[in-house]
Formats: sequence, structure tokens, C-alpha cells
Amino acid sequence: MSGKKYLVGVDLGGTWVRVVLSDFPGHFVEKANEKVDKTRSEAVSAQLIRLVRFLCKKHGVDVRALRGVSIASAGPLDMERGILVNPPNLPFDSVMLTEPVKEALGVPACLVNDCAAAALGETTFGAARGIENFVYITISTGIGGGAIVNGTLLLGKDGNGHEVGHFVIDYQGRLTCGCGRRGHWEAYCSGRNMPNYVRMRFEEIGPKTVRTSALYKQLGGDLSQLCAADLFNAARRRDKLPLMLVAEIGVLNAIGFANATNAYDPSLITVGGTVTLKNVKAVLAPIRKHVSDYAINRVPEIKVTSLGENVGVYGAVAAALKYLS
Ligand SMILES: [Zn+2]
Repeated sequence: MSGKKYLVGVDLGGTWVRVVLSDFPGHFVEKANEKVDKTRSEAVSAQLIRLVRFLCKKHGVDVRALRGVSIASAGPLDMERGILVNPPNLPFDSVMLTEPVKEALGVPACLVNDCAAAALGETTFGAARGIENFVYITISTGIGGGAIVNGTLLLGKDGNGHEVGHFVIDYQGRLTCGCGRRGHWEAYCSGRNMPNYVRMRFEEIGPKTVRTSALYKQLGGDLSQLCAADLFNAARRRDKLPLMLVAEIGVLNAIGFANATNAYDPSLITVGGTVTLKNVKAVLAPIRKHVSDYAINRVPEIKVTSLGENVGVYGAVAAALKYLS
């Protein structure tokens, strides 16, 4: 395998880390997935380094010959210093990533917001190839986005220029976001926070009606155990209240998409993330129906990502091709 060029892309999530050894121009050679080691802050970079070494050894690639390691992670991040700053999905104040990787492996490393990387991945390998104005949105544990405007990936001063999940969609701020602020899109519609929205609405609707819901009965009245999948599954069974709440969440999502449409004026938005990929119709249909109620700009085409759950790791590889080669 000597003579070929290789790089490594990493998709670091709140639960899983996906690492891929890729050749040029971006064909995956081998992937490895593990649960993120959250025992201590330093364990995260140590895990990445171990996985990079493992993949290289398996394929006879000299680690020092790698063009680099590109890490895509949920923000907030400091792109310049290569660290995560108060990451909501990891129990640490900060996580150093690029320096330990550079030091241990002796190769260049970069850190990019995972959704910004996903936007690059979609324009490099996926449905947005050749599209100059494009937005990627993930609806997953959290909500995030990446925007390409006139062919340029928007980054911002620290690399956090597209925190669409923290767009305000409820000026009354009824629910508090993981970031501590109120009224953010992610506080209502992300996989982690959707149950908070359901509990709030159930309180508003009142126990008399709520107790008639099959979802309420299925949970034995214990709404603390509710998860987003329960809500979507109940709606699929045509349970009346969950159907109504999925429709309401769809309108809130449409407001988020309208904000992104108004801010970035894309001709295409692709959507990924576990919540989307597992409930494509239930998530996308209300967005397509209601986005024009809130968008002043011409409504873009809205479709599911063509890269599925690999969009993040494709994004990391695309970021490596852009920043490290
Ligand atoms: Zn927030």
C-alpha cells in the first residue's frame, strides 16, 4: 500500500465516535466505531489516537505518512486551538483534541464543527455536489447546521458560525435549552429535548384528556421515561395526542428551517440526524408544508441527506481534503 496517500476522518458525537481511514480522493478504506470514552477529558483524544493507530496498522499504512487527522465534532468549539468548549454532550469543561493528536502521531490535525463538516461532505460526496448555496441541518440528539453561501463554507470567528439549533423559535421561552438559554429550537425539537415539549404540552392540555392517550397508558402514567421514539411510534399508531404533538413539533421545525432559509438563502437543504433518519416522513412533511408560512426567501428544495448516518464522517474526510491537503 506504500505510495498511496491516506488521511483520517473522525466524527465525534455525544455517544459514538466514528473513525475512518480514507484514501484520496475520499474512498473509505476502513471504519471503526466505538462509544466515546467519557472517563476523563484526556481519554477522548487518547481513544482517537488509539483508533487511528489501529486502522493504520490493520492496513499497513505508516501513521507518520498520513496527510492528517480531521475531527468533526458538535460545538461549541475553538477551531484555532482545536478544543471543545463546554460541550453539552460531554461531561467536561473543555476537551483538547488537535494538540494531543499532533503530538502523539506527528501529523497535522484540524477540528471543525460537525455540521459544517457535514455540509462540506454533502457538497463533496453527496446530494449537494455542484450547488453553490446549500444548508445541511441535523435533527438528532441536538440540532445543528452548516451553511455554504456562494460556494464558501461559513465558519465565523471561532468556527461556530451556524448554531442554528440555538435560533430562538419561541419568544416566550417556555423551555430551557441545554445551553442554558430559553426558547431555542433545540429545546423543543431535538431528540433529547422533545420529551420536555411533550410533558409541557400534556400539562397544558390537562390530565383528563391526557389520560385517554394510549401513549400515556403505555408509559403507565410515568412521563419521566418518555423518549422521542415513543412519541413517533405512538403517532405512527395514529394515537391522537401524539399525532397532534408531532404536527406541532413539525411547525416548530418549519420555523427553524424558515430562519435558515431567510439567513442563508439556499437552493437546497438536506436533513440528517437520527431523529430525521428514523422518521423521514413524519419529520420532513410538516416542514415542507409550513416553511413558506415563515420564510420570506424563495423556499429551497428540502430532502433527506444522501449520505445517511455517515454524513458526519464523510464531512470529516471532506474537511481534511479542504484543510489538510
Ligand atoms: Zn441553546
